[in-house]
Amino acid sequence: MDIKLENNNIVRFVTKEKKILQQDYIRIIDPKYPKSIELFPMCSWCKKIKMETVWEELDQAINKYGLLTQSVTPSLTHTICEECYKSLTSFM
Ligand SMILES: [Zn+2]
Repeated sequence: MDIKLENNNIVRFVTKEKKILQQDYIRIIDPKYPKSIELFPMCSWCKKIKMETVWEELDQAINKYGLLTQSVTPSLTHTICEECYKSLTSFM
């Protein structure tokens, strides 16, 4: 991804598809399942989930914390993780 600060304080994001990966269906991001009251922050950029104080890869968080073995699917709230925030603001 290229990020450029242009005139008039406009930020332009240019992305290129490098590789397409096939992944198994992930129920946690399917909106048709009932959701938990507890909110789990998910980074909108890298899709990591913050579990307690640690950002985990989505697949790792599901397996490590058994997120899909519960009767309701965890609710996600979107934010940005510190690592992505640093990479996005490093050019400023
Ligand atoms: Zn992130």
